[in-house]
Parts: sequence; structure tokens; C-alpha cells
Amino acid sequence: MADHFTLRLVASHMLAPAVRHLVFERADGQPLAFVPGQFLQVHFHYDDGTATKRSYSVATVGDGSSPVQRIEIAVSYVDGGAATKLLGNLQHDETIEASGPYGRFCLQAGDAHPRYLLLATGTGVTPYRAMLPQIRELLAKGDREVVLLYGARNEGELLYGEEFEAFAQAHPGFTFHGCLSREARTVPRPTDRSGHVQNVLAELAPSAERDIAYLCGNPNMVDAAFTTLKEYGLPVPQIRREKYVSSR
Ligand SMILES: Cc1cc2nc3c(=O)[nH]c(=O)nc-3n(C[C@H](O)[C@H](O)[C@H](O)COP(=O)(O)OP(=O)(O)OC[C@H]3O[C@@H](n4cnc5c(N)ncnc54)[C@H](O)[C@@H]3O)c2cc1C
Repeated sequence: MADHFTLRLVASHMLAPAVRHLVFERADGQPLAFVPGQFLQVHFHYDDGTATKRSYSVATVGDGSSPVQRIEIAVSYVDGGAATKLLGNLQHDETIEASGPYGRFCLQAGDAHPRYLLLATGTGVTPYRAMLPQIRELLAKGDREVVLLYGARNEGELLYGEEFEAFAQAHPGFTFHGCLSREARTVPRPTDRSGHVQNVLAELAPSAERDIAYLCGNPNMVDAAFTTLKEYGLPVPQIRREKYVSSR
């Protein structure tokens, strides 16, 4: 059930020129219970005093089941954005109001399909970062495969790219494809792909028998990949979606 709490910023760094990784702790010292894939809402006021809120996926890599002390989010700056102003300028030790967790964009225990296709653009990759401990457990079953297709314009915008690459190195059932739409890497990796994530799906030949798909991030990508996956025969319940639309 969703809870309301105050979050104190304890650390932060820039992940990309316009994306900030923020680490919070609850001001009451309590840990946060969440299921990887869920998001929080940040509550604040416009300059005219009107109350508003924005959603942010929890990026914390916990142990997959216990509550976490550190609550991490990644915020992609939007020109003129109200939450961008708040979260972009927030100083260490300052606080914000939040509630959560919310959402059902989560891995489900009953799923038995052999392959997971995880697609993301931008900060839409953060739910998958939080899911890494659960993905490790899935892969340990020995009969599952997980493919992450992550779209960015260039190498510098592949958020947490090194973490996903290290995870892929350590777990042979996990494949990470950085899909670069504008500029290839200086030193391209064999797993890199050029173009948009939804166009890379063709080489994976998705099928209803084999795949469960998760789509997260830019609404245009989510819609395009949803259409493509349906054309490959995936029924709608096997295509889970989280669109990062502004929740004003
Ligand atoms: C379930 C969910 C989870 C989300 N998780 C994250 C997350 O983990 N990280 C994250 O950064 N965002 C996430 N978002 C989006 C986030 O909630 C805000 O919408 C975003 O940060 C912009 O808020 P803002 O107040 O800065 O901009 P606003 O004040 O809402 O918008 C300012 C202007 O920019 C336009 N705009 C808004 N968003 C975009 C965009 N993405 N691209 C281009 N123009 C835009 C608006 O139409 C408006 O004109 C999520 C959204 C949802 C629904």
C-alpha cells in the first residue's frame, strides 16, 4: 500500500549531461518496501502554489525482496519542466515529499515463458536496473533467457550501461544490446546495434510461445514496439508497458 514520506537527498551525480542520479533516504529513517519495477511520486508546488506531482521509477538494486534504505531515482531533465527545476537544483540534505510505491510493471512469478525481452529508452531503463537481483534468480533456473534492448542517441546516454554490461559478462543468459540511433560508440561492442530498439526486434524473431516483453520509457517507442510485437503474434497480456508521460 502507498505510504507518504519525506525524502532527504544524501548523494547524487550526473549520469549523462542532462540526467541526474539521486540517492535519498527517508527522513524518518524507515526503509522503503517496493517491488522492482515500481515507481514513486514526488509531490511539490508550482510557483503559483498549485499542488502537483511527478512519477519516478525506483532504480535501487536491492536484494530483490527486502526493503531498501537507499532510494535511488534517475531524472532526465526536460526544458522548462517544473520537477526538473526542483530535482535538478536539489542540494544534499534538502528534502522533498513523496509517496509510493505504485505500479505493476514488475516481473511476475507465474510467468513461464523462456525468454524475456526488456526494451527501454532513456531513464526507462531504471526499472530493469532494480530488477537485476530478480533477473539473476530467473537465470539461475537455467531455462530462461533475458535480452535487454536499450535505446539511446549515443554512448554517453546509455545510462548504467557499464553495470548492464558487467551483469551480462557475469550471467551468460543475459544479453545487453545498446541500440544507438545517432552515433556509434568510439569503440563499438559486438552486441551494439544501430537504430531504434523496436527495429532491432526483427533479429530476435519474437514469438508468442517464447517471449514475454516489457516496454518502458518514451511513449513513441512504447507504442511502436507494442505494434511490432503484436505483429509478431504476441498477445497483449504478454506485452507489459510503462509510458513515461508527464503526470500533470
Ligand atoms: C510511471 C512513470 C514513471 C516515470 N519515471 C521516470 C523516471 O524514472 N525518470 C524520469 O526522468 N522521468 C520519469 N517519468 C516522467 C516524469 O514523471 C516527468 O514527467 C518528467 O520528469 C518531466 O517532468 P517536469 O515537471 O520536469 O516537466 P513538465 O513540467 O511536466 O513538462 C515541461 C514541458 O516539457 C514537456 N515534456 C514533459 N516530459 C517530456 C519528455 N519526456 N520529453 C519531452 N518533453 C517533455 C511537457 O509537455 C511540457 O511542455 C515517469 C513518468 C511516469 C508516468
